[in-house]
Amino acid sequence: MSPIFPCKGCGTFIERSTQHYRRMKGQVLCSSCTDARREAEAGALRQRHPLQRALIRIRRLWGEE
Ligand SMILES: [Zn+2]
Repeated sequence: MSPIFPCKGCGTFIERSTQHYRRMKGQVLCSSCTDARREAEAGALRQRHPLQRALIRIRRLWGEE
């Protein structure tokens, strides 16, 4: 049986392996919090770097990447 850890996002107790706990440095998240965080990060990236994304697209057009 895996040990139980509280989720860092919502506090729900979840079963995770000790290996996973160590890899996440104690920042264990339940699956819904992991999804929410991933979406938030993806959204932040989209909002933060519109110019950078345009640059990447232009470089691809020029065949530099
Ligand atoms: Zn959670």
